[in-house]
Amino acid sequence: MAKDKTYKFKDGVVICGAYGRGNAGDEAILKAMIAELKALDANMPIVVMSRKPAELKKRFDVDSIFTFNPFAFLKAVKAAKLFISGGGSLVQDVTSSRSFYFYLLTIAMAKRRGCKCMMYGCGVGPIQKDSHKKFAAKIINKNVDVITLRDTTTRQLLKEIGVDKPEIVQAADPSFSLEKLSASSIDAAFKKEGIPQDQRLIAFCLRPWKDFYNYQAIADAAKYAYRKAGLVPVFLPVEVPADIQIGKDIARLIPDVPCVVCTGSHRDSEFIGMLSRMELVVGMRLHSLLFATEAKVPTIALSYDVKIDGFYKDLEGRHLLWVENITSEDLILAIESAFNETDLELSHRVDRFIEAEKNNAKLAKEYLFGTKGNVVKILDFPIMNLTMESAINRFSAMLEKDKMSIVVTANPEILNMASKNVELAHVVRNADMVFADGIALLTISKFFKTPFEERIAGIDFAYNACKECAKKGTKVFLLGGKEGVAEKAAENLMAEIPGLNIVGTHNGYFNETEDLEIVEEINNSGAEFLCVAMGAPRQELFMAHNQDKLKVRVGVGIGGSLDVWSGNINRAPEFYLKHGIEWLYRLISEPKRFGRIIKIPFFMIKAIFKH
Ligand code: UDP
Repeated sequence: MAKDKTYKFKDGVVICGAYGRGNAGDEAILKAMIAELKALDANMPIVVMSRKPAELKKRFDVDSIFTFNPFAFLKAVKAAKLFISGGGSLVQDVTSSRSFYFYLLTIAMAKRRGCKCMMYGCGVGPIQKDSHKKFAAKIINKNVDVITLRDTTTRQLLKEIGVDKPEIVQAADPSFSLEKLSASSIDAAFKKEGIPQDQRLIAFCLRPWKDFYNYQAIADAAKYAYRKAGLVPVFLPVEVPADIQIGKDIARLIPDVPCVVCTGSHRDSEFIGMLSRMELVVGMRLHSLLFATEAKVPTIALSYDVKIDGFYKDLEGRHLLWVENITSEDLILAIESAFNETDLELSHRVDRFIEAEKNNAKLAKEYLFGTKGNVVKILDFPIMNLTMESAINRFSAMLEKDKMSIVVTANPEILNMASKNVELAHVVRNADMVFADGIALLTISKFFKTPFEERIAGIDFAYNACKECAKKGTKVFLLGGKEGVAEKAAENLMAEIPGLNIVGTHNGYFNETEDLEIVEEINNSGAEFLCVAMGAPRQELFMAHNQDKLKVRVGVGIGGSLDVWSGNINRAPEFYLKHGIEWLYRLISEPKRFGRIIKIPFFMIKAIFKH
């Protein structure tokens, strides 16, 4: 039992990404993510994996561990509830296969340690090798709960490689939530770099790249912008020192143009602020384009990677050139045309990104604090980790909806059947609420290191739901059991629960051809809550087959509960309930159940091995 405690209080997040390498884009993403997570809960433990943990700790006021320290990593994910891989394009094999495996394996290990796994505001790809595509799909399908995307192109790639298990939500790069710095701070940064404040400027944010060698094209375009429109070229590095030399090399090609080659490192908000003072930004680095867009400055994208294409496609940007075959003429034409872009067009597009970006934090919140974070998959069926109180709250909300909601009380028997019965599997997977009714499920969840809060027996849930109905004046219908059982159960329940209005009952012995008649009877009664006690899978399939015709708001399958409420069968005494051995009592009082109960250990073994 003591062992459970360590997991029960899993809390906070571990963030894994390309942090601590001096890239303003990555640091911007991290800054935005930390701010978003702290806004959800200011006291939430946050651990960031970084190549420079001490520096990161100081700058962001969060805990940080060295990226390649496996012991610190395992300790951190053991304590955390959510593992965030991202942002940026981590899963790709262009820069190296090592990082590709590293980012995927950290996800798998975090999952094994009981974390929910989220790929946050990310891009994926390019993935060149077929074996890598298969590996990525396998790891992501098995371990990732949710992916928030920074571009729509990634969605297509995920589909192509076969990623279909995690929840996939369109978002945007986290850094869209950042604001630019105050005017005086931008003035100071300009002064430090020697950028003239009284002239019109064009920024070039370039990076060295294996297929980019036509520096003369950039030099010609810079010269043209200066001669034609009086724009002073500013070479602004995103990654320092990596991007500095290229600016120097190009400036040397145009000695008669007064260029500024910046050498300092400017972080996110400062960078956005600096770009906001440019007339035009020619960017190779994704974050130069992103920051310029945020600052509502027109851009020309010089693409070297799908992430640039992806962002530019979503931006509906008009000026994208590939660096490997760039020419002076193309770039000059693009510069001329980019000037014609209106502020209004840009504003609309930026607002769209800012709105979509909110999905990153929204999903993190749902997995950290909402019911999504509390789903345990058993035999691939997602079972919600609820308390009786939260289940009744959800039930209450369902009563307000127009469409009928179906509640499934999952026990080993139902899940076993569902693993062999496609129709039942569909009902279980698509039910509006599925909770754990059965001590075997609790044991399995402990084994998975994501224990259920409590067992919610179907009979107890239905009883509490009836109490809720009594409070709200909601009408109830009892369906199931032998002739007379539902009537007797209704009589007893109404005597026990003051104000409960059971408006109809019917026995559970009819065949499917009579379903319609029964549905009509239920609809005519005006009931809004339907308890179906016909055993699984009949009760679940009855609800699912007739979901569109039934006018009730909520239906739940409750097995033999009517037999108990009617007084025909006794519920197990408190001792059995308290010790999780209700099954033993039922076995003693109904020995014919032996055949059903003996299947449970086999179910548990299957569930554990399939995990
Ligand atoms: N039942 C029914 N119609 C049928 C078969 C069964 O109404 O066609 C009733 C049966 O009388 C009993 C309940 O469904 O009241 C099944 O209870 P069971 O013990 O199988 O459910 P459990 O509580 O184990 O889920």
